[in-house]
Amino acid sequence: MYDIARVRADFPILSREVNGKPLIYLDNGASAQKPQVVIDAMTRAYEHEYANVHRGLHYLSNLATDKYEAVRGIVARFLGAPDPEEIVFTTGTTEGINLVSYAWAAPRLEAGDEIVLSVLEHHANIVPWHFLRERQGVVLKWVEPEPDMTLDPQKVIDTIGPRTKLVAVTQMSNVTGTLVDVAAICRGARAKGVPVLVDGSQGSVHRPVSIPEIGCDFYAITGHKLYGPSGSGAIWISKARMAEMRPFLGGGDMIREVSRDAVTYNDPPMKFEAGTPGIVQQIGMGVALEYLMDLGMENVAAHEAALRDHAIARFQGLNWLNVQGHAPGKGAIFSFTLEGAAHAHDISTVLDKKGIAVRAGTHCAMPLLEHLGVGATCRASFGLYNTTEEIDRLVEALEFCHELFA
Ligand code: PLP
Repeated sequence: MYDIARVRADFPILSREVNGKPLIYLDNGASAQKPQVVIDAMTRAYEHEYANVHRGLHYLSNLATDKYEAVRGIVARFLGAPDPEEIVFTTGTTEGINLVSYAWAAPRLEAGDEIVLSVLEHHANIVPWHFLRERQGVVLKWVEPEPDMTLDPQKVIDTIGPRTKLVAVTQMSNVTGTLVDVAAICRGARAKGVPVLVDGSQGSVHRPVSIPEIGCDFYAITGHKLYGPSGSGAIWISKARMAEMRPFLGGGDMIREVSRDAVTYNDPPMKFEAGTPGIVQQIGMGVALEYLMDLGMENVAAHEAALRDHAIARFQGLNWLNVQGHAPGKGAIFSFTLEGAAHAHDISTVLDKKGIAVRAGTHCAMPLLEHLGVGATCRASFGLYNTTEEIDRLVEALEFCHELFA
């Protein structure tokens, strides 16, 4: 049984007020709040367990290394991945995708080779591929979503041609909440011998993930959206693809031996982790993932499906609210504009005065907003601690905005 009152009590920030009103935090798509267990684990690490990792022979260094390295196993378990050595620590999805672009794609792709992307992508899964377009003439092929913002897996598969070297696709849109059938895309791409990178930055937060079921080659996650600290994250990379990758950043930890005129590299995954990492951040992410697994991702998914259904039902009554994207089975993320002149920033400012935190702007997804024909939207993105009452408060506040700006 999902006890929402108990879950909310785990997040100290939820009991604060903003602008004299109880906080209603609906900006989880940008970054989620942290449960006390994560805050406590990070404080404990700094107070009692801190030293640099992998370097010392002293007690604290070994302790910190054990705690840090254990997180690889936790991430693997969270993703249903068989081998912790396929987990590379990053600062988030952005770094994970840039790693793949630089270390795997750049040395392999030539002018005229193609990368297939969907129009739903976040800039983190666009700009690293633009680098390859600008620098080495790689061609980006875009797959359009359907009118309801569903992404048809067959369209993605049909776009794969003889020169396609990679498909890079999100599991869940951070703008419309569309869930993409990445497993179907991977099956089709595999049949054509093309690797798939899945941007799991949103998808991993809202439902259980099983890498073997998805069948991808790369799967990137972001710790701060998973109720962990900012600066934490990871990317799962299949052993086969790892073996094809050159190192990304150079420095300590990623080497085996360095002389004046030669260098040899550490084994993966450390080959891709140069310098002192976000030790305490990754330890915090491990605790956040354990928190999620204790709650049960199926329970989180069920709770958020109820929030989504309640929001859809309430929004349907507001004929001046333009919600972008109605993909069946979507996640609890809603981007919208209000009919009339009010800009998304004005709406979010009014909502803020009522203690409601939403995001306004282009959500790092300019090609999608261009496709939708809107300059900016407000986005309410729900998380595991939100309630149907909060949705009702949001609707009241939107009605107020509608009257104010009509
Ligand atoms: N991909 C998607 C779908 C996202 O929503 C985000 C963040 O909003 C990212 C990638 C980038 O994540 P980060 O900024 O944590 O690297």
